[in-house]
This record gives sequence, C-alpha cells and structure tokens, in this order.
Amino acid sequence: NLSPRLKKVSSLVPSGVRLADIGSDHAYLPINLVLNKRVNFAVAGEVAEGPFLNSKSEIQKSGLSEFIIARLGNGLEVIQNKDHLDAVSIAGMGGILISNILEAGIEKLSGINYLVLQPNVGELELRNWLQRNHFKIVEEHIVAEDFHVYEMLLAVPGEMALTPSELKFGPILMRKKSDLFIKKWNQELSRLSKIKEKLSGNADLKMQTKLKNIETEMQLIQEVL
Ligand code: SAM
Repeated sequence: NLSPRLKKVSSLVPSGVRLADIGSDHAYLPINLVLNKRVNFAVAGEVAEGPFLNSKSEIQKSGLSEFIIARLGNGLEVIQNKDHLDAVSIAGMGGILISNILEAGIEKLSGINYLVLQPNVGELELRNWLQRNHFKIVEEHIVAEDFHVYEMLLAVPGEMALTPSELKFGPILMRKKSDLFIKKWNQELSRLSKIKEKLSGNADLKMQTKLKNIETEMQLIQEVL
C-alpha cells in the first residue's frame, strides 16, 4: 500500500498513459498504478545502483516484469523512443533537482503530454521552470505525511503566466485554500514573525534589508490567507 504522499501523487497520473517514473527507488508508484490497471506500461528509472536493484526486485516480486522495466540511468536518459511514453513522474526530490533533470533531458520531453511532479522543497523554482519551458499547471494537491507537508502538481504542454504569489503558493492551491494549505502558511507566518522580532531593533544595514524581505514575504502570505 502506498504512503499518503505517493497515493496522492498516483492520483495525478492520468489513466492509460505510458509512464516513466524517474528516481523510482522501490518502484512503488508504477507498481501500484499497474496493479490498479491505471497504467499498463512503465519504465522505472534510477541513477543509483542500490535503488535500481530495489526496483528490479520489487517489480519481479509483484509479477509485473511484463509491464514495468527497471532501467539504470541518469534522469530522462532512461526514456527510449521505442517506449512511446507520454507521461513522466518525478517524486520525492527537491524542486531544483527535478528542474535540473527536466532541463538536462529536455529533448526527451517532446512526446510527453503529462508531467506529474512532487518536489519536497523548491516548489517555486519548479513552477518557474515549468513556466519558462512551456508547461502549464492543470492540477495541484497538498498532503501531510509524518509532519511534512508535500505539494504536487500535474502539468501539460502550454503557456501560463504566474503572478509572484501564484509562483510561491501554487496557482491552484491558493484558490482551493484547503485547511492544510492555510495551516502550512500560518506556520510559515509565525516562523517569519519570530525572525522579524529578533531582527527589529538591529540597526545593521544587512539586517535591515533582511527585515524588509521578511516583511514582504509576510505580506504576501497575509494576502493569500
Ligand atoms: N520517487 C520515490 C518516492 O517518491 O518515494 C523515491 C524518492 S527517493 C527519495 C529519490 C530517488 O531519486 C533516489 O532513489 C535517487 O537515487 C533518485 N535520483 C536522484 N537523482 C536522480 C537522477 N538524476 N536520475 C534518476 N534518479 C535519481
């Protein structure tokens, strides 16, 4: 059974796609999607030997070797023309690393109609990358697991022009304004306000600049809540 985070990621994968799951580790995501008959072909890509062997043995154990191929390789390198893939998922890494993987393999994205991405941090940088590289976000989810709040998204080829707030909070998440979203940003607000307290009264120019930035951040958050 998938963890709440991966379960929510799996719900973003459109039914019937041919998927590459990059940084698949144990391959739980493609295995689950195939078992639930949502996907009938997937590549589980891994750059590291240990996780690659994990994938391989989990796929074998599940009896799904016919439907899921584990490949060792860096990022999108594991995608081959003959796979006729139309979706890529990348979950459980930083947003900057996800962007770098997409950037390095950009020519492999030409036939890809869906990107399912779950950054652990660096959400803003990832949204920025998508915008600059002609992908638009069509769905976003937020989910809590083990005291961490995870954001995830589905993007398709297309244009978007996100405001600074949409880049930071997520264009769809900030409209849905779920309880978890509000909780996450309230926590960030109180974290920033503690820093603000410490900084105010400090006449150092550097600290004053930092204070200004924190106040701008806090204002952005207050506007969205
Ligand atoms: N995707 C799974 C999940 O969400 O539970 C596993 C996440 S795990 C924390 C990150 C995995 O990404 C590691 O197994 C790591 O080896 C792999 N990884 C990191 N950089 C990669 C790259 N450039 N190409 C392929 N895999 C990569």
